[in-house]
Amino acid sequence: AKSLGEGRTWFSDDALRAELTEQADLEAALSDALARGEFELHYQPVVDLATRDVTGFEALIRWNRPRCGTVRPDLFIPAAERSDLICDIGRWVLHEAGRQLVAWRAEGTVGEHVRVAVNLSGRHLARPTLVADVVAALTATGVPPQALVVEATETTVLDGDEVLANLRALRALGICVSLDDYGTGYTSIEHFRTLPLDTLKIDRSFLSSTQAQDEALLGLMVHAAHTFGLKVVAEGVERPEQVELLRSLGCDLGQGFLFSRPVPAAAVAELADLLRAA
Ligand code: C2E
Ligand code: CA
Ligand code: CA
Ligand code: CA
Repeated sequence: AKSLGEGRTWFSDDALRAELTEQADLEAALSDALARGEFELHYQPVVDLATRDVTGFEALIRWNRPRCGTVRPDLFIPAAERSDLICDIGRWVLHEAGRQLVAWRAEGTVGEHVRVAVNLSGRHLARPTLVADVVAALTATGVPPQALVVEATETTVLDGDEVLANLRALRALGICVSLDDYGTGYTSIEHFRTLPLDTLKIDRSFLSSTQAQDEALLGLMVHAAHTFGLKVVAEGVERPEQVELLRSLGCDLGQGFLFSRPVPAAAVAELADLLRAA
């Protein structure tokens, strides 16, 4: 394990992966973690590329595992997705993110236009109780539907009629639906016409690529999304020149380490000031 100097420790992926696969009852451990309140949400700003305004935050889950430090989601979300535990986690995320947004609003940390985005897994999005779960979280926390964004990956959205019906119902309530990791799956542009979507999040592999063709593809995606009335978010913005490129291509919003890494809720007030001043 190496220390990152913030009092937190990240285990090397290999060591942790080995430990977690060894543990036959990882699922039980995750279930306990949920009951004990060991999960935490970190928040990463989504920034308007033209004005630099923060339009929202994506909530990203972390597991503060006793004696292990912070565990990243790719090391435990796949395990949670093997059972309905992921739905319990999804409900927790919806409540926690909603509660936090309402607290930030009350403190004046964020304006009324700022949204919070949550990641829901395919298994949860396909459940008949999905819409009721989301509505329960909105009601319990007092978040208006327009302030919530539900992120669903490309593969999930194309996975079946249950998911599509649920996403349509969420949109009918005024909730925003965002297609995550776009470009990694097989959604043809023609699908944009019929899919229940508000936003397209272009996968960061398109930004990290230095190939001229990928730049051209980015431009095409932005254009196609706009043709169907979708907003476009570029993921993985790390360098200033990428902002220039994205703006020249007409991309609306950006998210990435250039603006901020995901941070704990307590650091968001400071971050909002910094980004306003930038
Ligand atoms: P994602 O939804 O695509 O989230 C974006 C990931 O990219 C985050 O990783 C974020 O920290 C990282 N990222 C942001 N900006 C940059 C950048 O400029 N450069 C690079 N290299 N990376 C950047 P994270 O937080 O480790 O999350 C990984 C994945 O775990 C997420 O990918 C999402 O699929 C899943 N996940 C996270 N939180 C949740 C959750 O609450 N529920 C579910 N079901 N899945 C979650
Ligand atoms: Ca996401
Ligand atoms: Ca993504
Ligand atoms: Ca991803």
